[in-house]
Amino acid sequence: MTGSFNLKASHDVAARTGLTFSVKSGDLIRITDLEGAQPVDFWAFNAENHLEFLSCEHTKPSIEKLFPHLGDAAYTNRRRKIVTLVADTSPGQHDMQFAACDPTRYAELGVDGEHASCQDNLHKALAGIDIVLDFTPQPWNLFTNFFINPDGTFSIRAPESKAGDYVVLRADMPAHIVVSACPQDQNLTCGGKPTGVRVEVGS
Ligand SMILES: [Zn+2]
Repeated sequence: MTGSFNLKASHDVAARTGLTFSVKSGDLIRITDLEGAQPVDFWAFNAENHLEFLSCEHTKPSIEKLFPHLGDAAYTNRRRKIVTLVADTSPGQHDMQFAACDPTRYAELGVDGEHASCQDNLHKALAGIDIVLDFTPQPWNLFTNFFINPDGTFSIRAPESKAGDYVVLRADMPAHIVVSACPQDQNLTCGGKPTGVRVEVGS
């Protein structure tokens, strides 16, 4: 990766679970796909006003891309930079098209009964820092290979990230971060087998 990374905290996020933590402006967030082909749903909220948050629909017009590439920022719903992608050893597939998985999506796919979801992981994590949202912002889907075909259709493909691939995001404002190791096991989103990830904060 570019530059230095002075480790301040490290968290292993078990398969199918989520995590929240806070960062200062300038902090680095390294997210490692430990076993490969594991999407990470990523949310970032302004630490001083959680109703300002990373917004995929606001990011795309600012960067004129379907998702940030190395060096691009993700923007909030107030069109301010909240994180910038400063290193990426993966093939660089970080979808911004699709909502978090949720119980209704699993029911749609034929799951009968309980199933972990990124939406539930988000709200459980936020409850731990006393934030209640009655909606679910669209996440930035790191290591997620939703392939857009030229005719406007898309294909849910297995991620091409390999074990040990990582991204580093720089916080551009003080923020509460939530990540979810996506539990999608009903299609190829996670290559068929949800696994865990590592999240490290550095400066
Ligand atoms: Zn998910």
